[in-house]
Amino acid sequence: MTLNAALFLDHENLVPLIEELGKTLEVVAPVYAEGEPVFATWKGEPLALDADNPLNSPVEFFLPQKEVLFKYVQCSGRYTFQDVPPKSRLILGMRPCDLQAIKVLDEIFGTELPDHPYASKRMSTIIVALNCTSPGERCFCAQMGSGPAAEEGYDLLLTDVGSGYLVESGSPAGMFILRAHSHHFEEALPEHLKEKERLLSLAEEEITNRRPALTPEEIRRAIDETDWGEVEKRCLRCGGCSLVCPVCHCFSVMDRGVPDGERLRCRDSCVMAGFSRMTSGANPRAALGERLRHWYLDKFVYIPEKTGMLGCVGCGRCSSVCLSEIDRWSILREAIE
Ligand code: SF4
Ligand code: SF4
Repeated sequence: MTLNAALFLDHENLVPLIEELGKTLEVVAPVYAEGEPVFATWKGEPLALDADNPLNSPVEFFLPQKEVLFKYVQCSGRYTFQDVPPKSRLILGMRPCDLQAIKVLDEIFGTELPDHPYASKRMSTIIVALNCTSPGERCFCAQMGSGPAAEEGYDLLLTDVGSGYLVESGSPAGMFILRAHSHHFEEALPEHLKEKERLLSLAEEEITNRRPALTPEEIRRAIDETDWGEVEKRCLRCGGCSLVCPVCHCFSVMDRGVPDGERLRCRDSCVMAGFSRMTSGANPRAALGERLRHWYLDKFVYIPEKTGMLGCVGCGRCSSVCLSEIDRWSILREAIE
């Protein structure tokens, strides 16, 4: 068996494979909770790999909604600090849009001055990605250049080709898994590769037909021409759109416990009034409409300036979670039509 070639994994062999991997790693995978798919620690329950991409992004396992950054202990007037060691993990079923979100976050958290808690979780996680052959209704990854096919950033990549998974390796760690668990795999056949191309091309066509693309110039013009006061009237100020977004990464830091305790990092949202309010009480973005406009500018202007990549990967979660049914992409289209 040549390990740099694509391999084939029968559907029935997936669970035995992850059971073996789960002996040394915490496995995170999409499972059902009250009938809805969610990324959670896998405990042997049925996998939700055929369901839509869960509303909670697996990016949460690198940048949780709330995490302990370190613990502090006071002794004789001096503080000592204890790191929280990361778990060795495998994330199964990460979609191409979420892989792209991690690429953006790696640039933000991992380059100039690496963020240790984020970087240590990245270093200790194996990613087994899943190509999107049946995109969700609100997805627009193709318009954002982040899907439906994954190009890089995975250790292993699965594509469901009907009779099983086509498996491709993207890193030495992925190659190691294929080698160590080779009894689960067979050589892929040319028809498996052809079926992968056919399914992904159909998926891309479906996504593109559903929501025509906008050029960066059109997006910039749409942000300027949107009536943000009108959007403000519909928004419930819940912040859900930011909290589910795999690219949003604003956070607050607080200490819990005196004299000993822990420093927490909690996700925050620029849509919330308190986020930009200063100690004096002044708020440069006091109106909700201004904050919503800023959210778009961050995604389509500021993050691209900083990272060279869009701050939106087209996962559609912000629209799915919104109780007011504010569809972020439609707002832009409507503004310039
Ligand atoms: S999820 Fe919808 S209602 Fe909530 S803050 Fe975002 S846009 Fe407003
Ligand atoms: S802005 Fe919305 S569609 Fe874009 S990455 Fe964030 S949650 Fe997904």
